[in-house]
Amino acid sequence: MKNITVSSPVAELKGVGEVRRKALLRLGIETVGDLLRHYPRAYQNRGDTKNLDEIRKMMSPGTRETVASVKLTVSSTPDARMIRRGMNILKFRAFDEFGTVEITYFNQNYLKDTFTVGSEFRFWGKIERDGASFKMTSPIYEPCDTGEELMSLVPVYPLASGITQKFLHGIIKTSIDEAGDSLDDPFTEEFCGRYGIETLKSAIRKIHAPATLEEMEAARRRLCFESVFMTAAALATERCRRAGESAPALKDTDISEYTSALPYKLTGAQDRSLSEILSDMTKSEPMRRILIGDVGSGKTAVACGAAFAAVKNGYQCAIMVPTEILANQHYEDMRATLSPLGINVALLTGSLSQGEKKRVRAVLSGETTDLTGKIDIVVGTHALITDDVKFERLGLVITDEQHRFGVMQRASLADKTDGVHVLAMSATPIPRTLSLVYYGDLALSRLDEMPPGRQRVETYVVDERYTDRINRFIRTHAKAGNRTYIVCPMVEESEVKVRAASAEKRGDDPEEMANVFLVDDINASSPLKSTVEFARETALRLPDLRIGTVHGKMKPAQKEAVMNDFCAGNYDVLVATTVIEVGVNVPEATLMIVENAERFGLSQLHQLRGRVGRSERKSFCILVSDSKSAKAAERLNVMKTTYDGFAIAEYDLKLRGAGDFFSPEGRIRQHGDASTMITDSEEDREATSLAVSAAHETVMRDPDLTLPENRGIKERVSHLRAGIENTIS
Ligand code: ADP
Ligand code: MG
Repeated sequence: MKNITVSSPVAELKGVGEVRRKALLRLGIETVGDLLRHYPRAYQNRGDTKNLDEIRKMMSPGTRETVASVKLTVSSTPDARMIRRGMNILKFRAFDEFGTVEITYFNQNYLKDTFTVGSEFRFWGKIERDGASFKMTSPIYEPCDTGEELMSLVPVYPLASGITQKFLHGIIKTSIDEAGDSLDDPFTEEFCGRYGIETLKSAIRKIHAPATLEEMEAARRRLCFESVFMTAAALATERCRRAGESAPALKDTDISEYTSALPYKLTGAQDRSLSEILSDMTKSEPMRRILIGDVGSGKTAVACGAAFAAVKNGYQCAIMVPTEILANQHYEDMRATLSPLGINVALLTGSLSQGEKKRVRAVLSGETTDLTGKIDIVVGTHALITDDVKFERLGLVITDEQHRFGVMQRASLADKTDGVHVLAMSATPIPRTLSLVYYGDLALSRLDEMPPGRQRVETYVVDERYTDRINRFIRTHAKAGNRTYIVCPMVEESEVKVRAASAEKRGDDPEEMANVFLVDDINASSPLKSTVEFARETALRLPDLRIGTVHGKMKPAQKEAVMNDFCAGNYDVLVATTVIEVGVNVPEATLMIVENAERFGLSQLHQLRGRVGRSERKSFCILVSDSKSAKAAERLNVMKTTYDGFAIAEYDLKLRGAGDFFSPEGRIRQHGDASTMITDSEEDREATSLAVSAAHETVMRDPDLTLPENRGIKERVSHLRAGIENTIS
């Protein structure tokens, strides 16, 4: 075998052919080093074996099943039979001194020779009570008599179709053995000692094969530290780079002309935030501020005020949003409010014709002034900045819902906004533990007060037995002139099948692995609904209603057309994916139904719920879930009683870990980024702030990271930034 190092392509590993190479690539894994940084999403605590007496006691009178690890001896010769074409079952009994378990496998008759009478195995999986004895179906089995010690904490990895846990375990083990020593730690040993963290070599070994929970924790701590540190260091070097840079200091920040043109009075929180922003913009130091406010708290009005001030002082303002739909909506809103004040607002999105784009760019740069004269405010998707748009006199950049861009995207955006003020806006309240990582480089304004007259969106959690009732409810709403959103987790049926198949192959119950980290209570047994399929079904059930569909795989122009139709009232029901999560405003929408609600982060559900209740009309949110998991139910019930986005976010972090916050749709997460493993514990909070201050110390001492001991850090930080630059467009 060739010499395997961290930079070897995975194809050099035994067992990795073209098909698996491609499957690994889907997980972001190209090299052996990537593989080593493919961290487990949870662990099965198989070492915690119980005898059948203990298991009997673990099951309280109401429960019939649990997940456990048991050591049993085979007591009957496996009986293999075909029960119908294409379906074989293998059954045998196994025992310990307290009882017997009947074990069944489907379509695995070849196991007949494995389970010989008298041999001992460790079985892991769901165990059910069956009268006085027990049953297990397709448990994971490991022979006890191979002489090799069985792992007690067995990692469970994120999978892609075409790849199994077993396969990953094998190649990761080989990679550690072969290439573990070639791992290049970005931190020196002295540094690790100073901050009390494991070295990379040790952490990588321990994260994949911890002997104890303590080892796993120490490894996780080190890897989280590293991720947070690198992000914070990147933001800090960015800030150093910016120091000394200057932005236009606004002279005149009287915006009363704007506020008196509004059809309402600003809330106290809006007023306060606006003065913070305006005061920043009177300075020549570039503003870097984030405005955080729950959905519906009125961020747009604040943004308009800031834009108005910039324009009044003769500067242009660019407003960037993540989707075209949102760009259109902001464009319409801003035009309605600001053009009566003599301000020109333009739209620049990917779906404009080449000619129009060219024209807008030319006017923005001041190259031409056609009939419309100048452009004061341009609203667009981030294509706006990545395409090389030149501004004649850009003074302010506003990014909306920018948490979708991710932390590093923001840093790289800052690159392109040298010498201007930047206002970011987000509706996602970030838990305290993460806000340092997220917003370490920003000043914060909060809209913690809702405009008057808002009603609470009444929230229900139901299962599928309610389908008929829900449909009647949708119809009643439609007849009253109101509209309904239905959100499904997937776009198409095919996607659902792939997911279901890989979930089956996992053969594990993720819920029970949660005693370690990364609570992952996705319940494989509750089938996923797809937007396309569900729209079809809904149309059959409600033939008298007009039903539209919108999802991320549609072309921007198509999406937009459907969204516009929904806004205009040409549809009663819109079946959608989470593309509608971000900022869309349809005041007549009063009913939000989320299918497979257990699949969504609570913060995401909160955002979805914010799509309704945007007018005086009474609004409802129905979370539909057939998940049998008690944890999922508990989680969803939080939505019934809590309306505070911040509280919901903290709860989410506690139950699901930080993954949802760093990548709402798993899109922009960097492979190997351990920060998604951060939880809400006191230790993690401390570790996070330690990592941030370590980064600040390091950058303060060595702003360009040129010292030899910071070589590894510099490399990582540049890599992080380069990687993100590529994902932005
Ligand atoms: P978000 O913070 O989610 O972006 P929007 O800016 O879309 O919220 O505002 C939601 C709605 O509230 C809009 O219809 C807007 O016109 C309205 N609104 C904003 N500020 C006020 C206010 N001070 N009083 C009354 N209505 C307001
Ligand atoms: Mg908004």
